[in-house]
Amino acid sequence: MTNNACNPTRRRILKGLAAASLLSPLGISPAFAAAKKRLYIDGLSFLPENLADIRASKLDAYLCDISAIETIEQADGTMNYKRTYDACMKSIKEANQIVSANPNILMPGLTGQDIALAVEQERTAVYFQIQGADCVEADSDANSWQHLDQFHQQGLRVLQLTHHYGNRFAGGALDNDGQQGLNKPLTADGRQLIAALNQRNMLIDVSHSSPQTALDTVKASNSPIVHSHGAVRSIVNNARCSPDEVIRAIGDSGGVFGVFMMSFWLTNKPLPTIKDYVKQLDRVVRIGGIDCVAIANDFPLRGQENLLALGNDNAEGIKEYLPWWHSLAAKNVLGFEHEPTHVVIPELNDIDRMSRIDDALAKARYKSTDRDRMLGGNWQRVLKNVLG
Ligand SMILES: [Zn+2]
Repeated sequence: MTNNACNPTRRRILKGLAAASLLSPLGISPAFAAAKKRLYIDGLSFLPENLADIRASKLDAYLCDISAIETIEQADGTMNYKRTYDACMKSIKEANQIVSANPNILMPGLTGQDIALAVEQERTAVYFQIQGADCVEADSDANSWQHLDQFHQQGLRVLQLTHHYGNRFAGGALDNDGQQGLNKPLTADGRQLIAALNQRNMLIDVSHSSPQTALDTVKASNSPIVHSHGAVRSIVNNARCSPDEVIRAIGDSGGVFGVFMMSFWLTNKPLPTIKDYVKQLDRVVRIGGIDCVAIANDFPLRGQENLLALGNDNAEGIKEYLPWWHSLAAKNVLGFEHEPTHVVIPELNDIDRMSRIDDALAKARYKSTDRDRMLGGNWQRVLKNVLG
């Protein structure tokens, strides 16, 4: 089932809003804007141990996964990673302490307007994100959503429905019955969660969801939704990568699709380069439009630490991923029969990746105004439209 028929009127309205918000993306006069550096926003990373990394990243804002994980072994031996309420409530409070203790570097991202403030004050706005709604799974009374309210009060603004496998609300990208992908839909509880997130002006993230759940979520949500970090399945045919119809539906909703740095899902070529990253961005532009594409890291700000320690030796670095990869190949999960040979694009496994992507897009003949959108403007538009 495709979602190409997503309400065209709604799309026009959202595109109109997008155009309006791009007239002055920083909320400052055009003359002054020309002298400023381009807005850089990343779709997913984490709080670094060394806060000097924040400035070195040149990011004006980013979606910051502050969740804590409990690792649970499933009946079939594969590992599931659950963001439980207790673990995440502790970790979001710790994240708040770090942000409030470092006001010269960081500021909490609570509304879309905070990006302009961060630029003006030369700080970085962090939008708290949790990679999985397992943290509110125990909200038994869907009319009250007490846990969700508590997380919102702690500054949570972006909630991903699930991570790899399904939960009470959503199907996961890697759900499998041993023979083929299950492509589970959004559940009845998931629809209630979508309504609750819409009511609270929280941004819905369908990264790691099944394609059907992502399509159902676009239809169920009153606001744009995002896939903060992922890749295009028509380039790498793997269950973790998104089919064209999902990317198109997210673009139609007024949302963005962020392309991450995990190179085994970006290209099947043996030696990944920044050109392979640009090829992914090109494909998202072609499918979802220039307003849909965004940048996402998905590693720590400075990069994948083990690969950095190995001097980006991908042949060595891939070894830590292979046991997990083989466990999915054994279940016939789509694409895992292809054994990966790399983890990172060496040029991008670097804290200065945004400038490098900016330069690569310029070489690929993207106009400056298009790069404004791709490197930060699209994220700013969505955060303004959804968070207010
Ligand atoms: Zn993820």
